[in-house]
Formats: sequence, C-alpha cells, structure tokens
Amino acid sequence: MLTYTDYSTYLSRYFSVKMQKLTVDARFTCPNRDGTKGRGGCIYCNNHSFSPSVAGDDVPVSAQLEAGKHFFGRKYPDMRYLAYFQSYTNTYDSPDRLMMLYREALAVDGVDGLIIGTRPDCVSDALLSELSSLAREHYIMIEYGAESSHDSTLRLVNRCHTWADTVSAVERTSAAGIHVGLHLIMGLPGETREMMLETVDRCCRLPVDVLKLHQLQVIRGTRLAGMTDGLKLFTVDGYLDLCVDVVRRVPRRIAVERFTSSAPRELLIAPHWDLKNYEFVNLLKKRLRDEDAVCE
Ligand code: SF4
Repeated sequence: MLTYTDYSTYLSRYFSVKMQKLTVDARFTCPNRDGTKGRGGCIYCNNHSFSPSVAGDDVPVSAQLEAGKHFFGRKYPDMRYLAYFQSYTNTYDSPDRLMMLYREALAVDGVDGLIIGTRPDCVSDALLSELSSLAREHYIMIEYGAESSHDSTLRLVNRCHTWADTVSAVERTSAAGIHVGLHLIMGLPGETREMMLETVDRCCRLPVDVLKLHQLQVIRGTRLAGMTDGLKLFTVDGYLDLCVDVVRRVPRRIAVERFTSSAPRELLIAPHWDLKNYEFVNLLKKRLRDEDAVCE
C-alpha cells in the first residue's frame, strides 16, 4: 500500500504518551541577516510567519513553556511536551549560553525533549558534543533548514549556505547520536519537479529521521513579494501530484512530519489554498488510495 510514516507514528517509537510541541522564541537572530553570512536574509523569509509561542516574546523560555502547558493541559491533562526552538537560528550563540537555554527548557516539568531549528552552517562540533551528552537522557532533534539540494537555487534565494553544508551537518549530527530533521521548500524559483524530487532522493540517502516539507508561499514584507512575475506557485492539485511522488520515494524509516504550511492570512500574498494541514493530508491520503487502486 502506498503510504508513509506520519509524525505521530514516528514519535510513538520514542514516547508512549501523546506529545505536543511547544514553540519557544529565545530571541535569537540569524547570521544571514546580521552580515555574518549574508544580509537581508532568505528572499522568502518573514519570521513573523513562524508559529508564535503561546506566551509571546520577551518572556523567559521556562515561562513560555509553562504558558504552553497551561494552554494544552486544560484539554489533555496527560500530555507531555517537546520544546521547539523555532524562530530564527537557534544555535547562533556561544555553546555555554545555548546549553543554558536548552537545559532551562528541559528542566520544565513535563518537557521530555528538544527540537532545535537552525541553519546547516551554524552548528559547531563543540555544541554537538554538548548536545550529544544531553541526548543520552533526553530526546534531542536538530531540524536543519536545507530547503533545496541545488546550490544554484540556494544562491538564488540567498540562503548563503550550500548543499555540502547540509550533508556535513546531517552526518555530524547523526554521528553524535542526535536525531535529525530536514526542512525543505517545494517550488522555489527556477526549480523543476525533477529538481525537487532529486532533493528528496538526496535527503533520503542521508541519516535523516524526519522530513518536513511545504509549498513555497509568498509572504508580505519579503523580497520574494517583489519578484512574483514569472513565479510558478503550486495549485493544490499540482502539489498533491508532487506529494504522491514524494511518498513513493521516502522510506518508512523516515517520517514526513508535514507537507504544507499556512502562513497567517494577513501576511500571505499567495497561494491562497484555504486548507488546514490536516485537510491537505486527508486529500493526500485519498489520492494515495486512488493511486494504489491504479497500480493494482
Ligand atoms: S529563513 Fe532562516 S536562515 Fe533564512 S533569513 Fe530567515 S531566519 Fe535566517
């Protein structure tokens, strides 16, 4: 049967109870904005479109997590949590300060692990060594923004890192005993369907645990918003077709956490699908069932 490992199935390999990610904003910045790697950031980036933490900004990590627990715990008292350091580059500081923040999160009652979002060119061996120790007792994942495996695309969107950086980061992280997630954007300017699928194939040859995909979205306040002429954005149907081919390629050892993203309506210029993540997944599952019938 044509299917894939979804995120809750993946988490059940490590946890026996329902887990909820709690987004925290530790007020990092990004080396692709402050001039260390580049200026202006990636052409599609507007960090306001990331999921906000429940408590809001400028609040200690532990207080953000407590607010998140309060929000979800009312409905699901037995829920356990993963602290998700999402906004900007969450490894962009000294290992000492980073470890202090990560330990603060893990000290919150009910928090059983960390997911750390970052760039593939921003993780030192010193930090990996510290996280490796932490990973002996806690679930730790580093989620790298790979976005594409094509350096021509990475240059075009001003990522200021290469595919070789991603390969190196993934291999070093996995060798340190830390789980690895990769974030990919489908439909970046100039990419063909073959290029996107080639990226998925290349990711699947790496020691990766989770893939997280989404369709390119044009967000207000980004440089991409001024470049929409000639930009081919996915329709829902076209993207479903692509995702069926993604599912065909991804082995069951790797989970697909998500296929889509929905930027806040007030920030989104295009495409307007008006579909929640679970609604897209339902459409995809129907398409996968139909594909199976065609194959038989
Ligand atoms: S997408 Fe990530 S790496 Fe790119 S500018 Fe935004 S925070 Fe920095």
